Amino acid sequence: MWYLLSRLANHRRFSNVGGFLVVPACYTAFFRLLKPVVILLMLLLPVAATADWYKQEESIMGTRIAVEFWDEDKHHAKQCAEQVFSEMRRIDALMSPYKPDSELSRLNQQAADEAIQISEEMFILLKKSLRMSQISNGAFDITFSSVGHLYDYREGIKPSEQEIQQSLERINFRHVVLDEKNHSVRFARSGVRIDLGGIAKGYAVDNGIAILDKCGIKGGLVSAGGDSRILGDRGNRPWMMGIRHPRKKDAVVVVLPLSNTALSTSGDYERFFIEDGKRYHHIISPKTGKSVATTWSATVIGPDTTTTDALSTSLFVLGPAKGLQLVESLEGIDAVIIDGQGRMHYSSGLMPPKTEAAPAGPEMRQ
Ligand code: AMP
Ligand code: MG
Repeated sequence: MWYLLSRLANHRRFSNVGGFLVVPACYTAFFRLLKPVVILLMLLLPVAATADWYKQEESIMGTRIAVEFWDEDKHHAKQCAEQVFSEMRRIDALMSPYKPDSELSRLNQQAADEAIQISEEMFILLKKSLRMSQISNGAFDITFSSVGHLYDYREGIKPSEQEIQQSLERINFRHVVLDEKNHSVRFARSGVRIDLGGIAKGYAVDNGIAILDKCGIKGGLVSAGGDSRILGDRGNRPWMMGIRHPRKKDAVVVVLPLSNTALSTSGDYERFFIEDGKRYHHIISPKTGKSVATTWSATVIGPDTTTTDALSTSLFVLGPAKGLQLVESLEGIDAVIIDGQGRMHYSSGLMPPKTEAAPAGPEMRQ
């Protein structure tokens, strides 16, 4: 695990964080299962006074949005945070599948009948979504919603086998046809629906960070549910970003020291219900129209949250073998996947070099 730590400190987006306490992986049955899992805690590092860290939280886009940044001028801080939250509300109004007058809902109502002109930003996000479908070999697919909309996780509602089979062929990102010249989109057949739930939060976080940057903020964090982006650092030290334990609400399985980077986690614990011992959750395999059962969570570290958000959903669907293969083919991306048995899989950027001897470092204490 010391290797992992060294890699994190040396990684170009990871800060050099100095001393750690490596806490042994021996506290819970889960930790025993997931060995060698450790919690990394930072010690004895200068911590900026909390008084000037401005924090604000709100519920938007069906999730918790948090903004935290360093600003000695409280009034200025509040203005900047307000701009971030109104940007989130604007994106929600545009892209929510639950708001009948959103641009996205208009597409779902009309794009199978005729080509619909769309806003520049919707066009760009649809294009990015289709690109993510291509690189993930169809694991990321916004037309998942053609079947996905039949689930209601709050109400414990799922489609019948017959309903799934009837709509399954409507899931295919190639059904979404973009026209660059006219800035329009058309669905190639009826019954196709799209949903940007796997990418829109990341996009909103990127826009939030751009606002803080414009405000002159040097160190801050914007997060929307499982998608976070860090601007700068946290007062000469990194932000300590925990990956949640997929089966224990307030526990973390690993903490990563990060600066100036984006981090997204997709988990089967976010929206789900359990029926007859089976978990029905919100990440849908485009091949089957059903919840993916082989992954508990997928975390991606990368340059921006639009990318890490779409990739975390993709890796969740792909699982560790294919998922990490994809990560290795991409520049500047790392990942941690927890599979359906609770085992952790790291990309090579977070793994020990196999041929080298272990450098001296803190021992894992039992
Ligand atoms: P995330 O938490 O970022 O993985 O996003 C999960 C959300 O992505 C779900 O609530 C759906 O809105 C959407 N989604 C589910 N399955 C897929 C899929 N296969 N491809 C793209 N988006 C998906
Ligand atoms: Mg995602």
